[in-house]
Amino acid sequence: MPRIILLGPPGAGKGTQAAQLAEAYDIPKISTGDLLRAAVKAQTPLGVEAKSYMDKGDLVPDTVVIGLIEEQLQSEAAHSGWILDGFPRNVPQAGSLKTLLDKLGQSCDRVILLDVPDDEIVQRMLQRGRADDREDVIRNRLVVYRQQTEPLIAHYQQETGLETIDGNQPPEKVFAQLKSAVG
Ligand code: ADP
Repeated sequence: MPRIILLGPPGAGKGTQAAQLAEAYDIPKISTGDLLRAAVKAQTPLGVEAKSYMDKGDLVPDTVVIGLIEEQLQSEAAHSGWILDGFPRNVPQAGSLKTLLDKLGQSCDRVILLDVPDDEIVQRMLQRGRADDREDVIRNRLVVYRQQTEPLIAHYQQETGLETIDGNQPPEKVFAQLKSAVG
């Protein structure tokens, strides 16, 4: 069963596609955004800490998200496959993931970039209307993406190879291309 990292800007459709892939391959979708939003909702200490960063569109501290990922990847459900959505989001997180996977005797099979132009992203997120989908916060998330997450493209091109899929197409087309990239 596959082990997949899905990269791409906020609003690229990673969450939607990851959910469908998870169903198709019967593997867990591990989304740091979902895990953080659940913690915010439950008002756990971690959620309270994370909220201030999320409200501004900044990255939550690495130690917090790495802890969440560690817990998920160690679970029985993730033993033979998984799909990561929204993690890693910077080069240090990618390093921590590598260390964790080495420890678990696992490796990532595919890194797939879902590419969507900025204008389309802003439109999509404004329509979505989540709490952090205000225009100023969206703009900041894009800046953070360019500065911190985009370097992962070169990182994974070197480390594992990376495939790019045009996310600016109807969702079912994107899904079909993702499936053939996963193989
Ligand atoms: P989007 O893809 O629209 O940015 P996410 O659900 O992936 O939405 O993330 C929402 C917010 O959660 C981010 O803006 C950030 O504050 C936080 N977050 C999610 N994943 C991470 C991560 N890997 N590292 C740090 N912060 C994260």
